[in-house]
Amino acid sequence: MKHINIPVFIPHLGCPNQCIFCNQRHISGTVKFEESSVRKTIDDILSTVGSDVSCEIAFFGGSFTGIDRDLMLRLLDLAQGYVNKGLVCGIRMSTRPDYISEEIIEILKRYSISYVELGIQSMNDDVLRYLKRGHTSSDTVRAARLLKKNGFNFVGQMMIGLPTATKEDELYCAKEICRLGAGACRIYPTLVFSQTELEELTLNGEYKPLSLDEAVERCAAVLKVFNENGVDCIRIGLCDSENLHSDDTYVAGPNSPSVGEMVKSRMIYDDLCEAIEIQSGLTAELTGKVLHIECPKGLLSQVIGHKRSNICKLKNKFGFKSIMTIENPTLENKTIKFEIKEENSCV
Ligand code: SF4
Repeated sequence: MKHINIPVFIPHLGCPNQCIFCNQRHISGTVKFEESSVRKTIDDILSTVGSDVSCEIAFFGGSFTGIDRDLMLRLLDLAQGYVNKGLVCGIRMSTRPDYISEEIIEILKRYSISYVELGIQSMNDDVLRYLKRGHTSSDTVRAARLLKKNGFNFVGQMMIGLPTATKEDELYCAKEICRLGAGACRIYPTLVFSQTELEELTLNGEYKPLSLDEAVERCAAVLKVFNENGVDCIRIGLCDSENLHSDDTYVAGPNSPSVGEMVKSRMIYDDLCEAIEIQSGLTAELTGKVLHIECPKGLLSQVIGHKRSNICKLKNKFGFKSIMTIENPTLENKTIKFEIKEENSCV
């Protein structure tokens, strides 16, 4: 069964912070939040989905458990009404780790919450301080433990290429999200939006955003950690919206609607390189040989890569004369097989 979130964006409500990278009004594409329009938003989306789609109502864009308490309860009551009628299967929300408390947990227990999405961003306290996040890594540990102890699933959201953060910080953050028991994760390369402190830092040269290539490489490294730990990655990069293409809102950073595909493709490239090096013992002469790759159905475009990037890089790195790729429906899940053949042994 397919799954969709019905997003209800709540920009900045309840958030007294101003993280240096954040302008939620731009990210969510909603300047004003109108409670009266929430039901219509949900009904409009529900009217377009078929019975083969499971839906969740998702309160995104702000710190849901920190908004005005009465408003939060009204929104939860409204969403629960849809659950009770069998129209949606659950409710999810994004919030900050320091907005999860025993009291909030007791409230959430009264509703059909499928996931709480925690904006973790980094597990390095120096980075969090620089970002002016207003919480520490120990808040994240406490929130994750509280959620798990009370039977809630959580999604760990983290960012790549934050100012002062290193690749090692990002790998550590991914490992911590796994260790804390996240059911899924989201990975966001840092983008620079207008009217943020990060914009000033970028314009005066104190912050240099990652290039798209760098972001793809670093996202692939953390995605590998999540995959190895069985934590499902449900999103890489912000959802495409006109704000990501407008000069009024987007300033700089690795912004591409295909970043997720590029990352998965990069990971396949990294894995193939490693496997080829192991199999060939690093010393074997591969120049002029033919690489034959088989992948499960649906994975061919990721194997080949954006603009055939993986094919070109593999040829350049190992000197293969040609590379053949083919889908093999008998292969399971993400299994990729390869064989190195003499030039004239291939048809
Ligand atoms: S806590 Fe979230 S909503 Fe608030 S400023 Fe930071 S990123 Fe934006």
